[in-house]
Amino acid sequence: MLQEAKQRLKEHYGYDEFRDGQKEILEKVFHNKNTMGVMPTGGGKSICYQIPSLLFPGVTLVISPLISLMKDQVDELQEAGIEATFINSSLSYEEVRERIQGIRQGVYRLVYVAPERLESAVFLNMLQSLPVSLLAVDEAHCLSQWGHDFRPSYMRIPDLVSQLNGNPVVLALTATATPEVSRDISSALAINSENVVQTGFARENLSFHVIKGMDRDIYIKDYIKQNGTHSGIIYAATRKEVERLHDQLSRLGVSVGKYHGGLTADQRRDMQESFVYDDTQVMVATNAFGMGINKSNVRFVIHAQMPRNIESYYQEAGRAGRDGEPSECILLFTPQDIRIQQFLIEQSNMDEERKEQEHAKLQAMVNYCHTEKCLQAYILHYFGDEDTTACGRCSECADDRESVDVTREAQMVFSCIKRMNERFGKTMVTQVLVGSTNKKVKDFSFHKLSTYGLMKDRTQKEVSQFIDYLAAAQYLKMSGGTYPVLQLTENVLPVLKGETKVKKKQARKPRVISKQHP
Ligand code: ADP
Repeated sequence: MLQEAKQRLKEHYGYDEFRDGQKEILEKVFHNKNTMGVMPTGGGKSICYQIPSLLFPGVTLVISPLISLMKDQVDELQEAGIEATFINSSLSYEEVRERIQGIRQGVYRLVYVAPERLESAVFLNMLQSLPVSLLAVDEAHCLSQWGHDFRPSYMRIPDLVSQLNGNPVVLALTATATPEVSRDISSALAINSENVVQTGFARENLSFHVIKGMDRDIYIKDYIKQNGTHSGIIYAATRKEVERLHDQLSRLGVSVGKYHGGLTADQRRDMQESFVYDDTQVMVATNAFGMGINKSNVRFVIHAQMPRNIESYYQEAGRAGRDGEPSECILLFTPQDIRIQQFLIEQSNMDEERKEQEHAKLQAMVNYCHTEKCLQAYILHYFGDEDTTACGRCSECADDRESVDVTREAQMVFSCIKRMNERFGKTMVTQVLVGSTNKKVKDFSFHKLSTYGLMKDRTQKEVSQFIDYLAAAQYLKMSGGTYPVLQLTENVLPVLKGETKVKKKQARKPRVISKQHP
């Protein structure tokens, strides 16, 4: 079957070879094994169900949360000579019936279905009458409570599988599965671990950068000025911020579009098309923009604010460089962004356990901003890849400042946290270390601790940043919601015993103001 699949690849898409992951996935699907494919954005997941849909006797159902893009996807398939249709809430009952009729008559090979439709008993009944050979679950992480985009309607998919006619094989696809998410998907959809295909997450053409302590407006303006006509996306946290950055760049004469949930569907479509067809150079957007957009020549993705977790970040940043050409992913970090994200988690209607989880994921995102190790390796490690090497391209790999021994300072911080019984947050620990006369410090009698004032030659800001670094380097854990408590990890003991040293890059030298520019 693989040989035939290869012919179809050439015929419909014009490609000569499958990528490694694709081949492996197709082999399993052709052997009727329920399979999970974990591939980075741009890795070529769609072909893994589109090609089988041409070879299987029954129809291929694709569950996809990307309702607004279904029409585009279907149009693209039609153009490639693959008969496809979609069913979602934008259609009338009559239209749905007509399409189902068409599927039954064998007009379509592929049918995209919005997960919400699975909540309708009438619709499920209709589906049961169809011969289905393959059920593809796109964005499968939506099925897991631990995923970053849980959708309750995805929980109906396991039931659907058992009700469908034709004993379909299941193919789950996602770009972002941590080990927990991967386990959830496998167990819900009866996928054996040997049928999980994970291709390398590393994107060799991307270079990651974290920029701290810069005025973001000035940075963005200068970056665009320096990078001429290259195409890029700027992600901002809120609609208001999108509007603000958009206005600012337009005033500078940059060819810029905007995209967020507050625009009408027509406006959004126009903005998106103009960007995809290279009529606009830069797109300023909230995270509503990008899912499923296939624009290969995006040279940079700048995050004006830190996103809420690594999954979202890697997915959004990964929209750069789909064509394999060198591209940059830049995150502009300010500590205030943490508060905003904490606030959003607390405001949400998630239950307490879920909120805890989200806070932990946010902390991993914050640690990314403070780490001094390879940024790409940090991300890959987060997704469960233990075997990583430094990329040599990111802002940390390129940072050639020398590392200095900060073991003694680290020991001071660790013992202070320990003496405070690991029950206080960063602000309080910092105040004790610098010897603050704050009333709260006295109330808890912390001024009597032997660690009180141990770092009195430092400013609170310096100590606070050092604590952030120690958390990023996995010596400290910050857990517990909006006011996280500092705790020591198992990496601390060898440091306290003097068996290992803690190193940190030297502080940057202050910039010397040039004499020509008074
Ligand atoms: P994903 O869904 O994983 O983000 P897509 O399926 O949209 O990725 O594919 C990303 C791009 O890679 C598309 O432009 C697609 O046509 C291209 N692509 C997919 N498979 C191959 C292949 N075997 N050879 C060359 N290009 C491919």
